[in-house]
Amino acid sequence: MAQTIAQDKQWSNLIGGSHQEAASGLTLDVSCPSDGQIFCTIARSGLDDVDAAVKAARTALETGPWSRMTATERGRCISLLGQLVLDNHSELAALESRDTGKPLRQAETDITVSARYFEFYGGAADKVMGESIPVLDGYTAFTLREPHGVIGSIIPWNYPAQIGSRIIGAGLAMGNCLVIKPAEAAGLSVLRMAELALEAGVPSGVLNVVTGLGEEAGAALASHTDIDFLTFTGSPEVGSQVQRAAGVNHIGTTLELGGKSPQLLFADANLDDALPVVVNAIIQNAGQTCSAGSRLLVHHDIWENVIERLSARFETLVANRHDADADLGPLISHGQAERLQTFMTLAHDLDIPVLAAGTIAQDAPESGYYAAPVLFGPVPSGCALAQEEIFGPVLSMIPFREEEEAVRIANGTPFGLVAGVWTADTSRSMRMARAIRAGQVYINGYGAGGGVELPFGGFKKSGHGREKGMASLMELSAVKTVIMKHG
Ligand code: NAD
Repeated sequence: MAQTIAQDKQWSNLIGGSHQEAASGLTLDVSCPSDGQIFCTIARSGLDDVDAAVKAARTALETGPWSRMTATERGRCISLLGQLVLDNHSELAALESRDTGKPLRQAETDITVSARYFEFYGGAADKVMGESIPVLDGYTAFTLREPHGVIGSIIPWNYPAQIGSRIIGAGLAMGNCLVIKPAEAAGLSVLRMAELALEAGVPSGVLNVVTGLGEEAGAALASHTDIDFLTFTGSPEVGSQVQRAAGVNHIGTTLELGGKSPQLLFADANLDDALPVVVNAIIQNAGQTCSAGSRLLVHHDIWENVIERLSARFETLVANRHDADADLGPLISHGQAERLQTFMTLAHDLDIPVLAAGTIAQDAPESGYYAAPVLFGPVPSGCALAQEEIFGPVLSMIPFREEEEAVRIANGTPFGLVAGVWTADTSRSMRMARAIRAGQVYINGYGAGGGVELPFGGFKKSGHGREKGMASLMELSAVKTVIMKHG
């Protein structure tokens, strides 16, 4: 029987199609970032629970019916899951908003995007094809795309519904069975979507969700010897750890890690178009977005004008509860707020000017983890403020004069996830798109991660492998070559 959508309750794991408490009986408290109040618990899973989930996935893979279903039948289940997500849209959005602290309207968008992932991957399931390869006379060779088998997936708290659904959608489309470990801070929507998957006809054991701490349940999944592939979305530090753990068992990985994404404003940019997008790209999800546009490279000729206009906007920005109609919600946790504070102290110590700041609503609960948006500039491109992922609503303005200088600054961090280029010069925009080392480059726009259809992932320390779009189907499947000698 499905857990109801009621938020104040004890949520348990979903293993082999049934709800299960942690074998230890332990739970973890989940609080709402808006006021720090605990509103439910999740299972604090350990090795035994992860092992049970992997066994359930392996059994489902080996005994069917999932592995015997046609790609079209799998696709129908995934599409139906998308419809069920839409049918439960308002409840899922309310859950996501309370769990993550993001404003309700952002959570509503996230759930709409989740449904779109299922629609996309439901339709794509039977459109993945192999190729025939000319070889020697008397031979025919072709390739098949096969599931990896059991995929372990560790996901973060900033976009649990979106990140969960893109992995579920693509993983299931290719016929894999999954074990997902959401983040302990927020991941209830993933549990709920796994219940809906059962309703949509995804057989028991095909999609398992195990909650718990990263160093316990997460580490157990990453080092499990009976998974065939691991996807990880989270911080570069933990990414290195899980890749090492998977590597011991020779298991392939995709890593979606952090970013320090630049937006480049050339002197001929249309500022009316650009500036609202620039602001949104840093306040969305209170800056806790891997693809947040956290560095703004501004041409010297428009520097003062951009400061004036951006400052005016920053000063109107207000952070408040997830259920208030605010520009941004709270940060996810006290720890994240403290981390942000270290960057504020650093900026102060380095005498980096604060150009403008927003405010925290007067009625925002003191027990919440709020941060007012801050605009800094000029920020030296080599300092920590411009180099490290802050994961907060902090925008660093950096001046440039020449195109080559802009490219050098844009590429001058360890990351390479997303970039935005604003210019009226088409040739320049193409030169920039080629020169910037990032997984996605926007020209005269910035979609913070882009659409469901577009491959997404990083260069350098931002990770490897691609999610979203058809690219994800390639990552979550393996090529088998069949060679037949027929004379
Ligand atoms: P995190 O790395 O702390 O946690 C991510 C996940 O890993 C969580 O589920 C956590 O429980 C688990 N984990 C933690 N320690 C573990 C361990 N030792 N072994 C196995 N699993 C472990 O990251 P976070 O704080 O949840 O998320 C923020 C980070 O994620 C940021 O750096 C952000 O840029 C990145 N991110 C990247 C993308 C992307 O697509 N590139 C998307 C969202 C977030």
